[in-house]
Amino acid sequence: MSSGSPARVRRIPYGGRPKYVKLSPGDDGEFLADVFFEDPRTFSPKPGPLGQIHAWGLYPYFSEDPELNSNSGEVDEETLNLAASDGMQSMMRQMKAQMMYYKNRPEDQFMKVILERKRQQLKDMDLKQLDKCDVMVKITMTGMRNKITKESRVWRQFKVSAGITLSAFQDKVVAPIMGWVRNFHCYTFTDFRDGALFGPESSASVDSMHIAQVGYAYLPDNKYKLAHLFGKEGDQIGYLYDFGDKWQHHIEILKIYSPEESTGKIEIIDGKGMCPGENMNGNLEYADFLDKYDRASYTEKAAQKREVLETPNYKSFGKPPSLFDPAVFDIKAARERLSEALSSSASVRSGAKTFNIPMMPGGEAILDDITSGHLKKGQTSTKQHADDGPGYWRETTSNTKDSRKEAVCASCGKPAGPDVELKTCSGCRMVLYCSAEHQKVHWKASHKKQCTRNHTPQEKSS
Ligand SMILES: [Zn+2]
Ligand SMILES: [Zn+2]
Repeated sequence: MSSGSPARVRRIPYGGRPKYVKLSPGDDGEFLADVFFEDPRTFSPKPGPLGQIHAWGLYPYFSEDPELNSNSGEVDEETLNLAASDGMQSMMRQMKAQMMYYKNRPEDQFMKVILERKRQQLKDMDLKQLDKCDVMVKITMTGMRNKITKESRVWRQFKVSAGITLSAFQDKVVAPIMGWVRNFHCYTFTDFRDGALFGPESSASVDSMHIAQVGYAYLPDNKYKLAHLFGKEGDQIGYLYDFGDKWQHHIEILKIYSPEESTGKIEIIDGKGMCPGENMNGNLEYADFLDKYDRASYTEKAAQKREVLETPNYKSFGKPPSLFDPAVFDIKAARERLSEALSSSASVRSGAKTFNIPMMPGGEAILDDITSGHLKKGQTSTKQHADDGPGYWRETTSNTKDSRKEAVCASCGKPAGPDVELKTCSGCRMVLYCSAEHQKVHWKASHKKQCTRNHTPQEKSS
């Protein structure tokens, strides 16, 4: 979330001489965020009012904005706890740096040290068997509460193994359970204990250009597990979806099960509220949208309903809800999205979904050629034409099985691990299972129709 105030005239810290990073001659540090004048080797990020560190601790918090803070009652403490990057300042800085630096901008010099520090710490981290434990989690959309009852308007509760790789967690669990589109916008997970960020490696999402507003850099989320981001029950993990809209969520660890009690099976328990529409401008605007809906007349409600149903997660990539009520969580639909995601290949982040409108005759064919030139082995470029107008969606998909690191059982979602070996379906060699039993269950439920070779699951699998 960027604060609405324009870039203020400010005093450049340390007379424009940073403690560690090197500015190119001619760069006076104008618009460079204050934090980059510090020494990253000794930098100690400051927590927000709820004791959580957001976005590596690079930005001030909303609570430090006198204007927002004085509006007490209007802005809740979850929102005041968020990092407030100055969108205008970061945009001005980006333009300036583009002209002065070919590479290794001061921001990059600083983040390189910060990332390396965290990488080392993760290498030495003792997970204390947490990755062998299932956890009950609750994901809540931050600061989106009913004005009167103060209850969170959009949340989901589910059980998952903490041994799941963060990339698979986002792609096959969080996105489908919430109701967001898979492989569309960029995202980060935050370890609130130190503000460390994790996100998709080589993401091609259009919104990833706004990275200077959400933390500048992150560690690759396909190398770390959910268990790396928390230590005990009650801990929270941040989840930011879409660097443009900045949909803020927090994931609370409600319960940690012992390894003996853990099965690895993903189970959706409960929830509330429809997922907002993609591109509906983030938590605060959607909260206003819901407040307006509460008070709206019948015709106004119908117009708002159309607005939601026109968004990609309801129109192009999901079923419109059978009952339109922003307060309702359709658990059956969420379970269907989850099982579909579990039995599919992992998203190809370098080929994220984009919406294209051909600008000239033959434009689509030209783009087809360019895209196929960039495809790696085992990848396909898929297109989905809109039913109205000339636009179409393009995405790169994988037609090979997932890497061992990121794979989960296509039936239950149990992740592969040091003591968990997943077996490949011998028919299609695409999906993996934690047990012969789950292979049978999945075969009967859906895989019989999807498997490229119509074989019986009892056949030898390797
Ligand atoms: Zn299984
Ligand atoms: Zn198969």
